[in-house]
Amino acid sequence: MDGRDRYVFFTPDLDEIVRHRDSTNRELRQALASCDEQLRVHYQPICCAQTGEITGVEALLRWQHPIHGLMSPAGFIQAAEECGLIEVLGNWVLRKALADAREWPGLRLAVNVSPIQVRNRAFPDVIGEMLAASGWDPTRLELEITETALMTRSQDVAETLARLRELGVSCALDDFGTGYSSLSHIRDIAVDRIKIDRSFVNAVESRPGAALVEAIANLARANGLLLTAEGVETQAQFEFLRAAGCHEMQGYLLSRPVPAHAITRMLESADTR
Ligand code: C2E
Ligand code: CA
Ligand code: CA
Ligand code: CA
Repeated sequence: MDGRDRYVFFTPDLDEIVRHRDSTNRELRQALASCDEQLRVHYQPICCAQTGEITGVEALLRWQHPIHGLMSPAGFIQAAEECGLIEVLGNWVLRKALADAREWPGLRLAVNVSPIQVRNRAFPDVIGEMLAASGWDPTRLELEITETALMTRSQDVAETLARLRELGVSCALDDFGTGYSSLSHIRDIAVDRIKIDRSFVNAVESRPGAALVEAIANLARANGLLLTAEGVETQAQFEFLRAAGCHEMQGYLLSRPVPAHAITRMLESADTR
């Protein structure tokens, strides 16, 4: 048998997938045991569509893996959810981001939370304690949840979001348009903002894509919701989205996610302009 045949007929067997997952879990556990050594939080600026001013940042988790280098969360958040580590991980991100963002008094801090965190009825208490402990203004914190979080146990989730709102924390519906029954969610759930998914932003230069974004913008306006476009990469996208009524923009056109000190530097240079 030659090597070529083996590649052609190679399919990873279940055993191998499980082994890979086990090793990811084990490594993730180790990373969590010494969070500050391997885990990082980067921040992506979010800008006002009208003035271009930085109004907030989104915290994005990174794992500085000893062998694989800087890893995107896309590859390990799900593993953390499956093996029960997501709450520890999520709380670490929240604490770290709240501490870093102390350097940026005027900015809103957006943090992604997993459906598993939101489904825990104690979640608002955890958030409340963190805010109290750090002396943070709750209205500066925004939690980003995806529609997936609203699909199961949606009554519990609605209650959790209502309690977070009582604390003064706001909530954004992330990746809007990619999940199911989006429309009923924005009616039933106390969200303050929707974030148009990058896949729609990418498509605004085509006619159906443009119409979809306009429909989402109208929906946001009719419901009094703030609207952020994510994954904005070109000036043409920016102009279209601003004209359509997006309030804020986020994407590589403005900045990639960067370490905390780079945000501090951006704010300093904006001040002295
Ligand atoms: P997301 O919340 O939709 O975050 C936006 C993602 O798009 C980020 O990927 C960001 O780096 C990327 N992005 C931003 N602007 C652009 C652009 O102009 N072009 C392109 N191509 N990409 C852009 P990232 O950092 O790899 O994160 C992937 C996902 O992992 C996030 O998607 C979020 O769902 C999840 N995630 C990240 N951090 C956390 C966390 O602390 N907790 C939880 N539960 N999930 C997290
Ligand atoms: Ca997000
Ligand atoms: Ca998103
Ligand atoms: Ca996404």
